[in-house]
Amino acid sequence: MVQIECPECAADLNVPASSPIHTCDYCGSAIQISQMIDSGAETGATEDQKKQFIIQDHYIIRCKYNHDQVKSLLVDWVQKIPGAPQDFEGAANINRIDLKFYPLWVGEIAATSDYVGLDDWPRFSKPAHDRPGWYEHVSYYKREESGRVIREYQVPIMALDIQKLPKYLRTYNVTTTGKEFFDITHCKKLGGEIVDSIYTMDQADKMVRQEALNKQTNEMHKEVKKITSRNDDIQQKGLFYIHFPIYEISFNYNGKPHDALVDGSSGRIVHVKVPVSKEFRVKTLSASAAFGVVGTLMIALGSLEYLMFFNIAGGIGLIIVALMFLGLNLRKKASERQK
Ligand SMILES: [Zn+2]
Repeated sequence: MVQIECPECAADLNVPASSPIHTCDYCGSAIQISQMIDSGAETGATEDQKKQFIIQDHYIIRCKYNHDQVKSLLVDWVQKIPGAPQDFEGAANINRIDLKFYPLWVGEIAATSDYVGLDDWPRFSKPAHDRPGWYEHVSYYKREESGRVIREYQVPIMALDIQKLPKYLRTYNVTTTGKEFFDITHCKKLGGEIVDSIYTMDQADKMVRQEALNKQTNEMHKEVKKITSRNDDIQQKGLFYIHFPIYEISFNYNGKPHDALVDGSSGRIVHVKVPVSKEFRVKTLSASAAFGVVGTLMIALGSLEYLMFFNIAGGIGLIIVALMFLGLNLRKKASERQK
């Protein structure tokens, strides 16, 4: 741990020396801890330094649901899933609801790339005698091509060790359009924990630029197979440090542990493992078996008597229905689809 003085509110803070950024527990300023340590200004920063140590573009996506609301969101949603137990609300035992504000970097990039590359071009030979305009032989040769790709990107970087992030959050697209300046009283009111970036601002900047460069490469590869030379101009137009709200919920149902993730700003269910009722399992399994048996019989009969082709098609249809029921039966996980 290292003791630092908040450059904004002068509060004494104890923060892990390994964390590059820390959001002040009192005023909510995002402090660049590693920069303070590097400048040896943990406690005695000058006025000029103080300004540099604080990340100005620090934003928050507000959480619109409290614990009770998020609980009823989850219950309502689960009950709409086919086969979900209707006693879910009373029988599910929620033992933990944690609100976390996770960190995200979003970089705005304007990129211009000039490139020279090689692409395969066809060469036609041996005109066909019988068909004018047609050729009997085609070979490919490399031809040099050059061009320019101009794009603007918004690149998000999850500011966490991906391995430590809940699995279903790793690929989640955070909607950042409603961001507002960071407000720590909002987090405190909801009892939310603020999680800070494992990357410094410089590292985040490099990652964002690299990602934009990769996207430019993809664009060039749409035009040429091989890039022989390139000249990239990657302009960073803004780098935002954004905290977004996620509820992590654990509950027991029928003695088994389950978990769920809910987006606190949209109420979207990011992930939930749904307990499927026994009654539903029995019903779908027997429906699957019945359709499967009839379908197989129809195919068998249809192939015996050559006249009854229709039976084969019908039989295949019934087996597809059987598989659909089986699919419903095996279904355990669900999440709300992202647009
Ligand atoms: Zn402070």
